[in-house]
Amino acid sequence: MLSDADIATLLRNFVNRREEILDLTQRLVEIESPSGDEAGSRAVVELLGEVAQSIGGLRVEKLPAPNYGEHLRITSFEDARESSPIVILGHTDTVHPRGSLAQRPWRIEDGKAYGPGVFDMKGSCALALEIIRALRELQLPPKHPLILLLTCDEETGSRSGRALVEAAAKNARAVLVLEPPASGGRVKTGRKGTGMFNVSAHGRAAHAGLEPEKGASAVLELARQTERLHLLNDWSGGIRVNVGVFHGGTLSNVVPADAEIQVDVRFSTPDEAAHIEKEILGLKPFDDRVQLLVSGGINRPPLGRTAEVLELYSHAEQIAGQLGFALGETQVGGASDGNFAAAAGAAVLDGLGIEGDGAHAVHEHIVIDNIPLRGALLAGLIASLS
Ligand SMILES: [Zn+2]
Repeated sequence: MLSDADIATLLRNFVNRREEILDLTQRLVEIESPSGDEAGSRAVVELLGEVAQSIGGLRVEKLPAPNYGEHLRITSFEDARESSPIVILGHTDTVHPRGSLAQRPWRIEDGKAYGPGVFDMKGSCALALEIIRALRELQLPPKHPLILLLTCDEETGSRSGRALVEAAAKNARAVLVLEPPASGGRVKTGRKGTGMFNVSAHGRAAHAGLEPEKGASAVLELARQTERLHLLNDWSGGIRVNVGVFHGGTLSNVVPADAEIQVDVRFSTPDEAAHIEKEILGLKPFDDRVQLLVSGGINRPPLGRTAEVLELYSHAEQIAGQLGFALGETQVGGASDGNFAAAAGAAVLDGLGIEGDGAHAVHEHIVIDNIPLRGALLAGLIASLS
């Protein structure tokens, strides 16, 4: 552990740097970067790269992600005693389409900073660079190399970023994820895994008045399948199934030949994942004149609350204690890139970002007073992991 004096030094540093962190956060928020917006993604990475160069002594890599933009990987403390890296994991994309900023420009009110993507997670991207700066300038080098990996397609399932996350996580001492914390600043020691499926039905069209018996309704078929899918929910266990989108039919006087549903699934264990995948891929039609086509599959494996996760958590809890606050933990249904890191074998602590509220929503904000505490917590954790 670090001494109380070192922790106090870290906290003072982040209090003194709060305006700079807030300023960089504003500049990041004011570059809109919804997933898949290549120009926005590159502009955010350009700015972060410039700030990283101002710290000095870092290896900055911009990694192309076709159709998304660029990922950013910044490596520091490469001469550390241990070879296994500590990974800080985040993302530069947001869920807010271009134009959101004009509707909800950056503003500060009652100690909170508002703007699209500020909580998930541009504020924490800015903080991550300041953490590296603090560790270098205060001469608190970690015992491990430090990799900051910011992907650019997390919000759409990390098709491109996933391999980078897994590669960084594979031999990592720890993976610290900058996703927003739960209410009260609690970190996330467990996340459900997720899957996405599409089920389309092809039946037979017919006139609804003249000869409906000759039709085979795709809408009726998928209505029945929707009920069947919802019965897979296991409220006492970890399985959650939701048919969130239902499209079908053309006109009210036509027996519909085509319909489609989109299904979101969540689970807590690999066994549950295998079970739910088998059930959905194996769906059989109620009406054998209707053809069912199922596509999709499991996307993110679960992040389990393992002994390694709890060891990281208790370490973070102690540092929070030195900083004078209680950390707290929770397990959540949403997935993040932390799920991929956990599946690659790493000890993962998620939800370490700056406190706030309204991720993906119009009232998205961070709490300004929390910036120094979160910075000192993360920097203290990185500096003291053996
Ligand atoms: Zn996020």
